[in-house]
Amino acid sequence: MTLVPHKKAKALKPSSRRPAKELCSECGLCDTYYIHYVKEACAFINQQIPELETQTHGRSRDLENEDDLYFGVSQDMMAARKTEPIPGAQWTGIVSTIAIEMLTRGMVEGVVCVQNTEEDRFQPKPIIATTPEEILAARVNKPTLSPNLSVLEQIEQSGMKRLLVIGVGCQIQALRAVEKKLGLEKLYVLGTPCTDNVTRAGLQKFLDTTSRSPETVVYYEFMQDFQVHFKHEDGSTELVPFFGLKTNELKDVFAPSCLSCFDYVNSLADLVVGYMGAPFGWQWIVVRNDRGQEMLDLVQDQIETQPVMSKGDRRQAVQQSIPAYDKAVTLPMWAAKLMGVVIEKIGPKGLEYARFSIDSHFTRNYLYVKRNHPEKLEQHVPDYAKRIVEQYKLPD
Ligand code: FAD
Ligand code: SF4
Repeated sequence: MTLVPHKKAKALKPSSRRPAKELCSECGLCDTYYIHYVKEACAFINQQIPELETQTHGRSRDLENEDDLYFGVSQDMMAARKTEPIPGAQWTGIVSTIAIEMLTRGMVEGVVCVQNTEEDRFQPKPIIATTPEEILAARVNKPTLSPNLSVLEQIEQSGMKRLLVIGVGCQIQALRAVEKKLGLEKLYVLGTPCTDNVTRAGLQKFLDTTSRSPETVVYYEFMQDFQVHFKHEDGSTELVPFFGLKTNELKDVFAPSCLSCFDYVNSLADLVVGYMGAPFGWQWIVVRNDRGQEMLDLVQDQIETQPVMSKGDRRQAVQQSIPAYDKAVTLPMWAAKLMGVVIEKIGPKGLEYARFSIDSHFTRNYLYVKRNHPEKLEQHVPDYAKRIVEQYKLPD
């Protein structure tokens, strides 16, 4: 790949320019002069996960190995939770804790993370945090597309040489593609899995359609018990079964970028912290390389861990959900609740739940790309995702 020095790209900066057009996930790269690299770097223009895996981890995933196929390159995987959770964190706050340790021990000079604006708890405000307080203020998901990479120019201007970036897959793919241009001596990447993200307007529609009190929702998560958990300002939790979601109204809510994403598990981060491969209440940790292990080691005395487990068989449930989603079938609430209870008892658990979620999203997204961007299908869908999708019978 031939790259021209990025400083020459200043003139190309109009922030409204988004070469990925409707597939843009607002990752922020195009708000900076690194827009010059967008054709190579953008996750939605140039899918290059295997190449960047090799650059980052020293190898790409082995498609014959089931863990690699589904969860990407890894050297360790476990379930974990903080013995003293951080109040107000998305789960137990492992992400914020690692970031604070890295900063206070001097491993990094700054942390790219995302706070919210003063007016709106769900409006993302990416920052380079230089104090533990600023990192803590970024805890909890902003479940909206967030331009985290918009701060990349400030890194170079600040003269920082050691940096931690926290982000989701599309942000991290673009970051890895321009990593060598940032002038850093050391870059650590702490990733979270990510799926079904929305614009701020889309989020409002989701909350209005799904929650009993949209204006008091503090955070929500699609949990392993097949229910959406909404936490409200008064501390109460509202549960809505997946199968009761108003699919017909919500089908268009998810951002087109997320409907065409095949990097659910954040393949290019050094360390991934999510929940979907862990038992309910626990976080799921994937250590991809030695840098990731170095980061996790910092918090070993603040977490309890257990080995990952896997139970059940997802395949039939995934196959049945494909036409149901396609036809936007919505069950009456009593049936949705009943189905939720049954599937919670006999359904997939642990890593099998993670595979259930990956299969469901990859089949849906494959159909989306095939129908809406057929010319992109071959290059955009990575081989591992093709192999996963091939297990199922898809409608045309
Ligand atoms: P905290 O300590 O609360 O820290 C959260 C961190 O997330 C903060 O540092 C903040 O900078 C960062 N962040 C917040 N919003 C965004 C954003 N929009 N873009 C980038 N970074 C952000 N895990 C799964 O297993 N399956 C999923 O489907 C899944 N979907 C997710 C969707 C989104 C949009 C996000 C941001 C995360 C998702 N996760 C998912 C990860 C999971 O919800 C938790 O974020 C993760 O387990 C860390 O929890 P924590 O308590 O350690 O994080
Ligand atoms: Fe630019 Fe990022 Fe949008 Fe791609 S996803 S067009 S790199 S802002």
